[in-house]
Amino acid sequence: MKRILIVEDEIPISRVLSAYLEKHGFATYQAYTIEQASMLFDRESIDLVLLDVLLPDGTGWDFLQNIRTHSPCPIIMLTALGEVPDRLRGLQSGADDYMSKPFVAEEVVARIQAVLRRPTRLLNEIDARHFGKLRIHPQERQIFLHNEEVPLTPKDRALLLFLAKHPNQIFNREQLLGHVWGMDYFGSDRAVDLAIKRIRHVLKKWPKSEGEIRTIRGMGYEFHVETN
Ligand code: CA
Repeated sequence: MKRILIVEDEIPISRVLSAYLEKHGFATYQAYTIEQASMLFDRESIDLVLLDVLLPDGTGWDFLQNIRTHSPCPIIMLTALGEVPDRLRGLQSGADDYMSKPFVAEEVVARIQAVLRRPTRLLNEIDARHFGKLRIHPQERQIFLHNEEVPLTPKDRALLLFLAKHPNQIFNREQLLGHVWGMDYFGSDRAVDLAIKRIRHVLKKWPKSEGEIRTIRGMGYEFHVETN
């Protein structure tokens, strides 16, 4: 079942889209802000994003650019009727298609199916990321150290992928829980510490001169890499 992330702050539109897509066999996730959209995108394996332009905490263009730094996930922009400059901008900045609001539900499904049938784009551009001996394939969610795949549970892997996506950026436990475990997680912060411990263990052959997961006292954790 294909998973569609609907990023739209007009709740009635979002609901109609969600109900219609689910009726056609898609699983849907609804985000009303860019922050929610980012969390869901990081956490779930999203197959396609429907993206509104004007959102309460920013524009769809910013979110689109952010996704394109690490993912070829197809994106269909939802633009207001007649926004020609926006359409051009959408296609130039990496959107796969656009639809003008108001749209008919049949068109939405037809366009989604058409975009999903296309061969995956941009894969080469976001290929592997190399951090010395550590190699990360964000799209395939694979991590190799000295050319051997690193054994990690799905959650630990998701945490490492998330940290590696934002090198040299500090995240506190609460942020990591939100991004990796999800907002509905009620367990303890300790889950983060334990996961970090396991990740460090499997990465112990990663030369410190290339990078490491650092504990920043009183602040959180950082995927630290040497930049030069
Ligand atoms: Ca809007």
